[in-house]
Amino acid sequence: MRLANVEGRAALVVDGRLVDVERASGGKLPSDPMALLSRLPEVANLNVPDDAPSVDDVTFGPPIPRPSKILAAGGNYQDHLDEEGAEAPGEPNLFAKFPNALCGPHDEIRIPGDRKQVDWEAELVVVIGRQAKAVSEADAWDYVVGVTCGQDISDREEQFRDFEQWTVAKSIDTYAPTGPFLVTTDELDDRDRMPLLCYLNDDEVQNGSTAKLIYSVSTLISWTSHRCTLEPGDLFFTGTPGGVGFTRDPQRFLGPGDIVKTEIPGVGTMENPCVAA
Ligand code: ZN
Repeated sequence: MRLANVEGRAALVVDGRLVDVERASGGKLPSDPMALLSRLPEVANLNVPDDAPSVDDVTFGPPIPRPSKILAAGGNYQDHLDEEGAEAPGEPNLFAKFPNALCGPHDEIRIPGDRKQVDWEAELVVVIGRQAKAVSEADAWDYVVGVTCGQDISDREEQFRDFEQWTVAKSIDTYAPTGPFLVTTDELDDRDRMPLLCYLNDDEVQNGSTAKLIYSVSTLISWTSHRCTLEPGDLFFTGTPGGVGFTRDPQRFLGPGDIVKTEIPGVGTMENPCVAA
């Protein structure tokens, strides 16, 4: 199943068309994408109305608009650690992105005028489907409802100043584009092996695979759930592969006019223009 957020209302994607879940269910199912997460088995059988719009004719919001928390893994691909000259963390290295940073798959990334080192990080984002507390690695995927594409936009000046400030660096408004769809796990060909691509103005800048995660989705969820209870709708940014801008020679950063394209084949594609805030 593929679900989208269209102006705050949950929509089911069927053959490139959007079915408003609340209307198509005659009011039986909620319109709120968050409230719908616990009712997904009831969504699959909705009929497609004749006037269902095409996915090309609407603007999508983030598929999970109000998570209780957004977790993110740092240093979780060896090629990204190598380009930074960093050692692999001995355990998962987590930071937070605040939900204010969320925006949709085609929304503008708004860069404050004084920020000169804003970078891209294409990532697989995992969506928690039910409460997870101290779950085993073997069971971890059972707590995942689906996945989506994400960009962990990062202000490197903020991130790497003397007292490193990761959470703020990655939580500036619009610095967490996600979407376009929540793709449920049953739709994934190989949940532990998904290609992950990023383009800057049509230049391919990242080309990785989640098969190369140092700490897999299962490990991240299990490890975290022994410390923080995960709630339905929580998002987990799982890390970015090599190819970011600040480790390049010369360095490359995002500015007004740039377009960041993020793609996970089989899951979706986002295209976010950068503008001055
Ligand atoms: Zn990241």
